[in-house]
Parts: sequence; structure tokens; C-alpha cells
Amino acid sequence: MAHDAPQASGPSKLVIRNIGLLLSGALEKPILDADTIVAENGKITAIGRAKDVDTEGATTIVDAAGTTVAPGLIDSHVHPVAGDWTPRQNQSNWIDSYLHGGVTTMISAGEVHMPGRPRDVVGLKAMAIFAQRAFWTLRPGGVKVHAGAPVIECEMVEDDFKELAAAGVKLLGEVGLGGVKDGPTARKMVGWARKYGIQSTIHTGGPSIPGSGLIDKDVVLEADTDVVGHINGGHTALPDDQIRCICEGCKRGLELVHNGNERSALFTLRTAREMGDLNRIILGTDAPAGSGVQPLGILRMVSMLSSLGEVPAELAFCFATGNTARMRALDCGLIEIGRSADFVIMDKAQHSPGKNILESVQLGDLPGIGMTIIDGIIRTQRSRNTPPAGKVPEIVGGH
Ligand SMILES: [Zn+2]
Repeated sequence: MAHDAPQASGPSKLVIRNIGLLLSGALEKPILDADTIVAENGKITAIGRAKDVDTEGATTIVDAAGTTVAPGLIDSHVHPVAGDWTPRQNQSNWIDSYLHGGVTTMISAGEVHMPGRPRDVVGLKAMAIFAQRAFWTLRPGGVKVHAGAPVIECEMVEDDFKELAAAGVKLLGEVGLGGVKDGPTARKMVGWARKYGIQSTIHTGGPSIPGSGLIDKDVVLEADTDVVGHINGGHTALPDDQIRCICEGCKRGLELVHNGNERSALFTLRTAREMGDLNRIILGTDAPAGSGVQPLGILRMVSMLSSLGEVPAELAFCFATGNTARMRALDCGLIEIGRSADFVIMDKAQHSPGKNILESVQLGDLPGIGMTIIDGIIRTQRSRNTPPAGKVPEIVGGH
């Protein structure tokens, strides 16, 4: 178990060759005409045809064996607590399990399952700073967990946000999970957060567990967070007319989560498509929560939206990669020179009826994962959690 996997150290050059299909993560051009990627010291340095790129001096060579390479998947909505353990369902190694589902980056929507979570201002600030530091130091399996997401309380003043930002906090937890549940207070604090470079999200819909509250369209639109957190509810969704109002009433991110209402997710997807706003769709699991931990949750969302929502699979993968990276200003999520070398290598699952991986996902099946790579370092080979991939990549050389 790679509990504290190292970040890239020393010069490295990774070459992935013989790629059968390269998914870019970008809606405007989801498939790239290339069969080789080169990454040096954890960053992508070349993308092209083998004969056109410099593969000399590789420290690791991966033969993709004609399989599919995509950016590592991003889960836009998780609730981590401490390392690779969650008290909510008392599970260990859940983040490592997600890595086996292709997730290489996670965004905390608040460390709200922390036993004894402090709600006074000094305490909640201290916890956020601690979580940010702890998860950046410890990367379970190599997964990048962006944590340290304080849940706002009514007693906070502008200086608290300034202080949090100066200490390295970049996210707010879901607005509505703390004492602030009204539009005007939320809007004021979200504005302070934005002023100091802190991104925000909100709990949309009915209460998720006893003690949580209802946040309706009026509060969501007034609060004006950067992301409309689980617009399909967590778990109880708003009525369709309210979801439509939110889609039409702002240009913020529309987050669809595994632990929400699937019918409402499909309604949101169709609404966004009608509006020409598919670039606003991003995906999360909202795990660990009452529904548990879903190591394959992001893949399942991609497959569900592609099959039932009739979205080509290569576009559905963008919801979990490039869309999220752009919205959240991450340096991963796209196959582009200069981006982090975070990849998932997949193939059609064995015995799936589709004629290729894209068709199999559009038919509602999950792909099989053969390898994950973070910062140019191979983290896992054949996934222990997905159905077995037809073909898997192989490490064929390097020094
Ligand atoms: Zn929530």
C-alpha cells in the first residue's frame, strides 16, 4: 500500500507509445490525433506521432498496446477527513481505491465528517489550515487531494477570509452545511472569499443527513458560489423547474454527483445541452456519505450520462477532466503541453458488447483500467476494482 507515495523526484522522462485512442479532456476537441506522449519531470512536454517526437533518454517507457489514454479523472466533490480513512463509513484506503477507479485528483467540499468538528471561528479556521497542509503532505497512492475547505459560520468577518487565504486555503466547503443558510449572508461571505482567491461551492437541495438543511434556488442564485454543488441533490434534488432556474439564472459550474438524484442529473445535463453550456458540467461523487464510498463513482457517472443522456463518451469524459480543471484552475485534466502528467490508461472491458471503448461506455458499461499515472509516475497497473480491461499497457523499458 503506497500510503505516502512520493512526488516526482530527480529528472524523469516518461514515454507512452502505441496509444490507440487519445482523449484530450477538452470538449472542443475531445480526440487528439497522436499515438505518443512524452512527460518530463512530471509535466507533459510532447504529444504527437512517434516519428515526430523526441523519445530519447526515457527513464520509463510504457507500451499502451493500442489502448486509450485520458487525463486522470477529477472528483469535484469529496469529504475527506484524515489521511486515507473516513469515519463516515469507517473505511480505510478509500482514496487508494478511487485511484483504481481512475481518479487522480480530488476536491474537498468540506471536511465535515471530522468527529467533533469545531464550529467556532478560530476552530474552523485552524481545522481548514490543518487539512490543507495534511492532505498536501500525504498523498494516498499519489492522489492529489485539494482539501482544507472551511464551512462558513455567521460569526465570520472579512479578515477571517483574508487570513485563511494567506495561510494557503483555496476552497470553501459547501455553503449551507454550517450556520449560514440564508442568501444575503452567503453572498457577502462568498464575495469575501472570492476577493481573496478562495473558490466556493454550495449544498443544493434537501438535507443530506439529519441536521443538514434545505437550500433552494433562491439561496443558490443569491449566494452566487463558483460551483453549484450537487445540483442534482445530495440526495434530495430540487424540483425540475428550480433546477432549470439555476441553470438559466447564472453561468456557474453545474456539478452532478453520484450520490445525488440520477434523474435530476440527466435533467440538468439536457438543460445545459439545450443552452449550449456543456462546458459547465462537472462531476463528483459526494463520498464518503450516507451512500458510502464509490471507487468507480466517477466512471459510473461518465457511463450513466453518456448512455442515458446520449452524450458521446469522448465528451462525457471531459465532464470529469478538462471541464473541472478549467473551472477550478487546476494544472491537470487536459492532455496539453505544460500540464501535469496525470493519466488513466483504459480499454474496453472484457466481454462488453461495444465494438470499442467509446461504444461500450455509450452502451452503459464501464471501461477497464490498465494503469494510472500521476506526475509522470506509474501508480497502479491493472485495476483491482474495474472490470478487467481487454488489453493492458506494459512497461517495456527505461533506465
Ligand atoms: Zn452537500
